[in-house]
Amino acid sequence: MGEDFQKQEFRLQGVGCSPGVVRGKAFVFLQKNIEEIPCYKIEESAREAEAHRFERALEATREQIAGLAEDVRSRGATAEADIFDAHLLVLDDPAIVGETLKAMATTGLNAEYCFNSTSRRYIEFFAGLEDDYLKERVSDIRDVTQRVLKNLLGIAPTGTSDRYSKRVIVAEDLTPSETTTFERSNVLALLTDMGNRTSHAAIVARAMGIPAVVGLRNASLRIAQDDEILVDGEKGIVYINPSEKTLACYSTISRQRSRLAAVIEKELSLPDVTLDGCAFHLEGNIGGADDIENLKKFRLKSVGLFRSEGIFLRNDRFPSEEQQFEEYRRAAESMPEAGTLIIRTLDLGGDKLISSSLLAREDNPFMGFRAIRFCLEFRDIFKDQLRAILRASAFGKIKIMFPMICSVAEVVAAKEVLEEAKNELRSRGEKFDEDISVGAMIEIPAAAVIAENIAEEVDFFSIGTNDLTQYTLAVDRGNEKISHLYDSYHPAVLKLIYFIVKAARKTGIPCAVCGEIAGDPVFAPLLLGMGVSALSMTPNCAAKIRYILRHTDTDSVRKLARAVLAEPEPRNIQERLTLFMNSILPETE
Ligand code: PEP
Ligand code: MG
Repeated sequence: MGEDFQKQEFRLQGVGCSPGVVRGKAFVFLQKNIEEIPCYKIEESAREAEAHRFERALEATREQIAGLAEDVRSRGATAEADIFDAHLLVLDDPAIVGETLKAMATTGLNAEYCFNSTSRRYIEFFAGLEDDYLKERVSDIRDVTQRVLKNLLGIAPTGTSDRYSKRVIVAEDLTPSETTTFERSNVLALLTDMGNRTSHAAIVARAMGIPAVVGLRNASLRIAQDDEILVDGEKGIVYINPSEKTLACYSTISRQRSRLAAVIEKELSLPDVTLDGCAFHLEGNIGGADDIENLKKFRLKSVGLFRSEGIFLRNDRFPSEEQQFEEYRRAAESMPEAGTLIIRTLDLGGDKLISSSLLAREDNPFMGFRAIRFCLEFRDIFKDQLRAILRASAFGKIKIMFPMICSVAEVVAAKEVLEEAKNELRSRGEKFDEDISVGAMIEIPAAAVIAENIAEEVDFFSIGTNDLTQYTLAVDRGNEKISHLYDSYHPAVLKLIYFIVKAARKTGIPCAVCGEIAGDPVFAPLLLGMGVSALSMTPNCAAKIRYILRHTDTDSVRKLARAVLAEPEPRNIQERLTLFMNSILPETE
């Protein structure tokens, strides 16, 4: 084959979830499937180093497991901690470790292959025994084997690795915590087989400004290491080995998009009022105190949603009250003048997991042990967080918001725990805002239906449309196989939003929207027309939303809302909203 051989271009369509056009080489993460462990020969001279690499992976695993055991034990879950002790025993088992080292020496093959083969032999042996106790060891060995292999293979990606610096990362899936480890300056783009626009890893990528396409189904199998890739994060298109024609076409598209961005950015510092002089309120969604710089960059004053689980995901453990307090205080202190910081209490579960046995994998995670359900079960963990938030309220204007509320009883119970936390701080003599506002996220249809009753118990609402959409339509927000059914234009979703807004208005409390549609230029005029009090979004969406709302007026958006709410067909709604947006955006040809 000649040097001028041009690899064939092919195109994959996924869900664009973080805009940006980039071009670069692929770095494909190894899949987590144990069947795909690589097997290769190690040079004689490198065998000692290979044995050390194996020992380092064992040591890293030992530290991770000991940390988990300590964490769980400190929460009083002694039985769960015992499981990790059993895992440590497997790691120290001279038979498995010794046999692996022996296999490496005699076959000259790599550590992961030899370790995997040895542990599989043990798994088969224990699985075949009659004794139930000994059979139990199978899951211990399997779990430890996975951890060691991940450490050997570097499967759990961390954003600091040089191996994929300035590459397009391709993976079967990325958890939100894995995504948070990447640095904007270190990776070009993220591509995953799984996920959808509102899966949490996608939201994290958007917040970090890393172009991303999810739901690509089998991209990690079709893209090879070092393939040349062109990513369009807005349209969700990925070209592998792009042709000269495609590259030329994309350079024109990029120029047009930059021109549009420049026009929009010019208005960044103009007041947030519509053409008829009505003020509108834009706020930011953040995942940590560091994001507040970005908030200011896009001239947002308040935070409508601080996803506090970011601290838990980044540390992969339950942080102490002190650690949390430091983060919340730093956020409160760095807020723009007169801004409000709404901290949402822990929303772990669903697709946001940490390595804790208190949060095991579930068959139906989004319907499961998540958010307030977890907090009301593990009240000490909840109270650690509430005390930390309360203490930080002495340093800036903070409000507390409870996620995944489904009943009045849950709000009442959460407020009881908040009172306990306040009492504990009073007896410690700590300062906090005695009148701190408390709000509820309305993101479950049941809560929407009884919104008037819930409103009696809280000071404000924020509608979580990401979850409200998945629960209303019974469509898992992270499942790429049904992403076409996850439809925010569905009239049932829009009618529910309007129903909640009306319930809040009747009770006299404000009602914001903090789901992804708040930052979507197609939806913003509609939400304003429905009477939503504030739109809270990933800060880098704010410039375009500001431009659109500044170039419309109250009558037009109310008329738009009336027309949309009377329309039964989602595609007609989409068309009407898109036409409205396009009539406002400037031409860039
Ligand atoms: C939502 O559900 O719309 C929301 C804002 O919360 P999260 O995306 O974190 O579930
Ligand atoms: Mg939610």
